[in-house]
Amino acid sequence: MQVRYSYLKQQFANCDDLWDELKKFVSTGDFTLGKHLKRFEKNFANLIGTKYAIGVNSGTDAIKLSLKALGIKQGDEVITAANTFVATVGAINELGAKIVFIDCDDSFCMNVNHLENYITNKTKAIVPVHFTGYMTNMPKLLEISNRFKIPVIEDACQSILGAIDDKNAGTWGETGAFSLHPLKNINVWSDGGMIVTSNRNLYNKISLLRNHGLSNRNNVEILGYNSRLDTIQAVVGNWLLPTTHEITKKRIVNATYYDNAFRGISEIKIPTRPSDYKIVYHLYMVLAERRDELLRHCIANGIEAKIHYPVPIYLQPALLHLGHKQGDYPVADEQAKSTITFPCDQHITKDEMNYVIEIVKSFYAQKS
Ligand SMILES: *Cc1c(COP(=O)(O)O)cnc(C)c1O
Repeated sequence: MQVRYSYLKQQFANCDDLWDELKKFVSTGDFTLGKHLKRFEKNFANLIGTKYAIGVNSGTDAIKLSLKALGIKQGDEVITAANTFVATVGAINELGAKIVFIDCDDSFCMNVNHLENYITNKTKAIVPVHFTGYMTNMPKLLEISNRFKIPVIEDACQSILGAIDDKNAGTWGETGAFSLHPLKNINVWSDGGMIVTSNRNLYNKISLLRNHGLSNRNNVEILGYNSRLDTIQAVVGNWLLPTTHEITKKRIVNATYYDNAFRGISEIKIPTRPSDYKIVYHLYMVLAERRDELLRHCIANGIEAKIHYPVPIYLQPALLHLGHKQGDYPVADEQAKSTITFPCDQHITKDEMNYVIEIVKSFYAQKS
């Protein structure tokens, strides 16, 4: 059996109604901003539970424009997590700010118990990453950030509808940044992103920033970017967005199925699953003994398992100038050596999951 990682072929196998929408859309010529995007933004904000949403061209720009709107500039320090996708640090770097990492904990997210140790008088923003669809401990993080009056931008790119105590990812910080990249839980047919906020000033400022700072055709209010979300992708987004709850539910059901099976394997460690957290499993990630061998065994048996990531971002060659060395963030280091990600999307079948479980079991049974 083959268990693929990407389900995109299945996701858009039956979308004749979307093609009808796209045909209608093309005949309007409404290709920049416009009513489809407005509708997508309104529905996205409603889904997450914020007053506003602003469509942008990527999750990276969702973070960048949020930081820009806060006035982040060269010489400032921005705190983020030591294990994240490069985009988080790329966005911070684009504004010239210094990237300050904090180690992760069992949740794969920033260990907020360390946060105070890293705050200086140059710290101008905190960017927690809700990595894998888990949540950063936001109640505790906000208690600290409020005390120090440091704004928070949530990197919620992997955690749409993730929540703590029913409060969604993206609603805790000044803004929340989402990605609509094809591999994210809610996706379009190209790059795309969304910024959510309930702060009217930030909404106005970010709306300007994403469209060259133009308040109207003839007036450049501030210098900005071309970071618009393509309206054609908003049409795709409008088609998919109503299924977000269903997609999320399926992922949670599938992850629970894996959890129950893997609990019987002593060499696999499942992260804690706090009952007040809603984890949305962008990545279904567990810790495995003899991880590299297990990965090879899975690949050899047709299972497209992955590692997120074999080298933590803080040790990547592009960030050598920060002067970090292996061991600076021991939990991130350990996770880089022991985590493995299995396909756990809304299209995977029970047979496929059973096969994954069987192959993992057979690996530890044979070779221990
Ligand atoms: C995908 C992702 C981003 C950025 O998304 P793009 O849309 O690809 O620019 C940022 N942070 C994290 C954690 C991500 O997974």
